[in-house]
Amino acid sequence: MSLPSAILAQFQQSKRMVVVTGGGMSAESGIASFRQALIGPWLNYDVRDLATPQAYARNPKLVWQWYDFRRRLAEQTKPSPAHHALVDLEQHIPEFLLVSLAIDGLHWRAGSRDMVEFNGCVQRTRCVENGHLGDWDEEGETPPHCQRCGSPLRPDVVLLGEGFARNDVTRATRAVEQCDTILFLGEISALDPVAQFPFIAQRANACRIVIAPDNSVFSLMANLVLQTTPGQIFPQLIAQLTGNGN
Ligand SMILES: [Zn+2]
Repeated sequence: MSLPSAILAQFQQSKRMVVVTGGGMSAESGIASFRQALIGPWLNYDVRDLATPQAYARNPKLVWQWYDFRRRLAEQTKPSPAHHALVDLEQHIPEFLLVSLAIDGLHWRAGSRDMVEFNGCVQRTRCVENGHLGDWDEEGETPPHCQRCGSPLRPDVVLLGEGFARNDVTRATRAVEQCDTILFLGEISALDPVAQFPFIAQRANACRIVIAPDNSVFSLMANLVLQTTPGQIFPQLIAQLTGNGN
């Protein structure tokens, strides 16, 4: 059996699947990484000035403007064929969870719903005092203030040094412990707890699949590895799975 056929067969028999994505999926839509986005007025800034809780405490306006810039970059892009294929896969698998390190909101825009966004989403804001999620007024102060409690707003993303939300880690880890198949799609930063997922999945006897161009802990621990970008083959595979191909 060819590698794509073996992966397709595993998708066909899977009842409980976890898919993990990160920077590689964002790149499919042309989203710049943190460092790639340090252009124009942002060229000489350091991550410590823009993306830490200390930076927000020192200069909330600057941190807000940086994430506002990245939000606008994300809004200028569209979900890729691989993002749309993941939505079809979600609808095909009885128990499915997407775990993403991306903050661009493209999975949501494509239609993915069973999802844990470890790093949050640049399209959302929350207030500093009470964590109220909500809309903001583009015309007013920078950063804007919460319409419910008046506290300043910040992007609903995990800043460096804050750590992931415990609920998210628990939900994702439990899904990996119980899955029969885990797919690592595109390049993904090997940060904990995501870097532990291949080992947890191995203990659960789950099939570990990687579709990504790079070598990583994920490919090292996998049963099936397709060394290519998500856009190259994944959409065709899912079209075959759901009967929209051929
Ligand atoms: Zn509030």
